[in-house]
Order: sequence, then structure tokens, then C-alpha cells
Amino acid sequence: MNTTGVVAAAVVPAAGRGERLGPGAPKALRELGGAPLLVHAVRALARSRAIGLVVVAAPADGVAEVVGLLDSHGLAGKDVRVVAGGATRQESVRLGLAAVPAGTEVVLVHDAARPLVPVEVVDAVAAAVRAGAEAVVPAVPLADTVKRVEPRPAGEPEPVLDTPERAALRAVQTPQGFRYDVLVEVHAKALAEEAAGMAPAVTDDAGLVEHYGGRVVVVPGHEEAFKVTRPLDLVLAEAVLARRRASDGF
Ligand code: C5P
Repeated sequence: MNTTGVVAAAVVPAAGRGERLGPGAPKALRELGGAPLLVHAVRALARSRAIGLVVVAAPADGVAEVVGLLDSHGLAGKDVRVVAGGATRQESVRLGLAAVPAGTEVVLVHDAARPLVPVEVVDAVAAAVRAGAEAVVPAVPLADTVKRVEPRPAGEPEPVLDTPERAALRAVQTPQGFRYDVLVEVHAKALAEEAAGMAPAVTDDAGLVEHYGGRVVVVPGHEEAFKVTRPLDLVLAEAVLARRRASDGF
């Protein structure tokens, strides 16, 4: 990692239960090729020369366990910190962000559930923020046509409302990159709105920036930065890892 002063820090929300993956350990601690998803994700970030600090938001009852796991995979040290995460992804990010020193220029937020993000994507996101963007998301074009529906209970057919033009849609990944001050400000505003019972309905950090009128830009993502959500995603992740190990012998 970069040891000449923190240029960019990364916050890794890793406090989710991952119920869609089936019963068992919190998702970030599930194994992929002999190491937890979280360890892969932290390594992927640490491989980037842009990143000087990684803050992991662990399950609140699992901080010591996560510290131990990172340690046993050679990832403990002053450039990896672990804090207790929260009840929602947004809260986990906010708590992780609170452990990033003020004065840091760039903050990346990366899901522990995206263990195989290539370092080129991490570098490209950090570089785009350093080049002047306030918020950057990596994204890929969609293979599927997407329809907006009127949600109905399971088992009932859902009426289609419309079909957005596929060529103008992107599936957004992480790490998402931000100017530190911008990310701190939107999370503080969201917390205030939440306290007033008006939490903004967003599912990613860039969504918060958009919600408060900021400008978000897209850089190319990568098919291997997919999120491990369902059991089939783990099968795919094992296959990608096996191919990488076969081709570069690590
Ligand atoms: O639930 P989903 O797969 O979308 O979660 C994305 C990321 O947010 C995961 O890395 C998960 O561990 C994290 N998360 C969190 N705190 C929560 C819920 C999710 O850090 N309370």
C-alpha cells in the first residue's frame, strides 16, 4: 500500500447478513477459494497504489472476529482499521467514514460482497476523483431488457408500467469514489433527514450525492466486479478465481 501519506482511503461496508445467500455466517465472512469474501475485497483495494487506508465496517458483534481474520491473512496493520458497522448499509458506510482522517482527499466505498474487483477499476475510480469529479461510479451496460413494474405480492402478476431504453442504462458497481468533503456532507444530511423520519430512499452512496443535487459520473466497470448475492454468484466467483489462479499462478 501507499505509505507516503493517505491519498485515498477506502471504506468497506461488511456488516450485512447476506440472507439471499442462504443461512450461515455474515456474507462478508463466507469463504471463496479458502479466504473470506472480505479478505479478497480488502486485498483488491490494497493492491491499488492509490489507497493508503482501508476501513472495514464489520458486523457490530463481530469486530474482534474480523480483526482476527484480517490478521490471519496478513492484512492487519496501521493501514487497515475495523469499526462496528450498523443496521443498514448506509449506516455502516457512515460509521466507516467517521474513522477516515479529515484531510483525506478521496474516499472510495467498496462492498465486501464484490471480492473480485480488478485493481484497474479501483485505480480508474480514484483517478477520476483526483482529476476533479466529485462522485464517480464504475458501471457496465445491461444484458437484460429492464421493465418498470407496479410491485405486487409474490405470486401475483405485476403490471408493466414502461420499458426504459436499454442503451441508456448502466448497472452500477463499486468501488464508488468521492471527494471526502462531499461524501461526509451527504451522509450528514441523510442522517439529519433520517432523524426527521424522512430518510432518502437510495441504495448506494452515489445515490445520496444525486439526491442532494451533486454531479455523478460513470467510468467503465468490469464484469468481474459483480456482487455476490445469491448462491449461483459464489459458483461464478469460484470459477473466476480458479481461472485467475491458473493464469497467474497466485
Ligand atoms: O445487502 P447487499 O448485498 O446489497 O450489501 C452490500 C454491502 O453492504 C455488503 O458488503 C454488506 O456486507 C454491506 N452491509 C453493511 N451493513 C448492513 C447491510 C449491508 O455493511 N447493515
